[in-house]
Amino acid sequence: MFDKVLIANRGEIALRILRACKELGIATVAVHSTADADAMHVKLADESVCIGPPAPRDSYLNIPSIIAACEITGADAVHPGYGFLSENARFAEVLEKHKIAFIGPTSEHIRTMGDKIEAKRTAKALGIPVVPGSEGGITDDVEAKRVAASIGYPVLVKAAAGGGGRGMKVARTEDDLVEALQTARTEAKAAFGDDAVYLEKYLEKPRHIEIQVLGDGKGDAIHLVERDCSLQRRHQKVWEEGPSPALNAEARDKIGMVVANAMKKLGYRGAGTIEFLYENGEFYFIEMNTRIQVEHPVTEMITGIDLVNEQIKVAAGAGLSVKQSDVKVNGHAIECRVNAEHPATFRPSPGLVSYFHPPGGLGVRVDSAVYQGYRIPPNYDSLVAKLIVHGRTRNECLMRLRRALDEFVVDGIETTLPLFRTLVRNAEIQDGLYDIHWLEKFLKNGGMDNPV
Ligand code: ADP
Repeated sequence: MFDKVLIANRGEIALRILRACKELGIATVAVHSTADADAMHVKLADESVCIGPPAPRDSYLNIPSIIAACEITGADAVHPGYGFLSENARFAEVLEKHKIAFIGPTSEHIRTMGDKIEAKRTAKALGIPVVPGSEGGITDDVEAKRVAASIGYPVLVKAAAGGGGRGMKVARTEDDLVEALQTARTEAKAAFGDDAVYLEKYLEKPRHIEIQVLGDGKGDAIHLVERDCSLQRRHQKVWEEGPSPALNAEARDKIGMVVANAMKKLGYRGAGTIEFLYENGEFYFIEMNTRIQVEHPVTEMITGIDLVNEQIKVAAGAGLSVKQSDVKVNGHAIECRVNAEHPATFRPSPGLVSYFHPPGGLGVRVDSAVYQGYRIPPNYDSLVAKLIVHGRTRNECLMRLRRALDEFVVDGIETTLPLFRTLVRNAEIQDGLYDIHWLEKFLKNGGMDNPV
């Protein structure tokens, strides 16, 4: 097992990793920017190293500084969390060269899955169902029109290097398509420095359903059922739950086994998520995330398996401590991403948290790095806390979520708590009847005009 793990991240996920390390008896090193000197992950780690100024490119994305921090502290492994360097193949490679373990998959798998065209090709070859679309990148408009006509409109133009919903454009007609290609290419070039785009059939009313996987890197892999992340705003997940209200046990097992078998064939190492759109009983692969995800606690609550603990064990060569037959769905869990944002306009609201009282009680988990008197810096994402609630049934979970949300107090900044208090009381949400466009429509139709 590792002696000392450096956590190349901040916020709640840095705390999450720190907790897993402590429970394994591993010493921890926090890294931080000058804006995060007072952050909770710095206070709780055994050691900490300042790695640069507030801008992420100068600190949390600064590979030489992080390697130097490893060498100064003698860390023998790095956990990248999510975001920042977690899906940076070069970072994984540089660590390998320095004989420091990367708690994640191989750099080769990160690279393959980071390119969406390559990822889709790989998924298809591994027997995973994919969204109909172009075979690879599309460089020429005539070719694009031919492909679009064959898959049928509407189509979606997507950036190969895409992420965070950027570089994505819908085209409903051939005229739209030419324009969509141009805007998607420009956006992709600006955001990712790569203007490669491809075409996909645009699904009108899908749900976003993703399968959690764990692999030992030696040919064994398991799936840990699904999470439903259909409630999204600007392609960003807002509320995640598991199991999905839209799947029955048979459909769950079937897709789970397809994915687990694919990961075995790939020889995948560590935690990963295979994301699908689900419409009319069919699954369509959209991408794979080769890291721990924000919404991983949903899976932990329903399976009782500590995903970060498994990630660390696999990276240390100790293999997985769970088998497929150990994975049982127990009840229901919902996660709300509470952000420092206005609940209706979503304007960021960093600043001083003057009062912080998280909810508690049976089945309630709050993953947060915020404390009373903490000043949320404006430089990073606006996640304040993840509220994760478990119940024996979806109904019990909803009732518990409602009371937990009512207990939660965050003063001094705006948060999205009122949005969740409104959503949990909505009849369609209660019935599980929502697709990936539901939240945008709800907001557009004045759903937050009278928040709870
Ligand atoms: P990113 O990496 O930018 O997050 P994804 O490929 O994961 O991009 O897609 C993000 C979201 O965009 C999905 O969750 C879904 O809401 C929407 N989306 C992606 N592909 C399609 C498609 N073919 N049809 C309809 N919506 C899509």
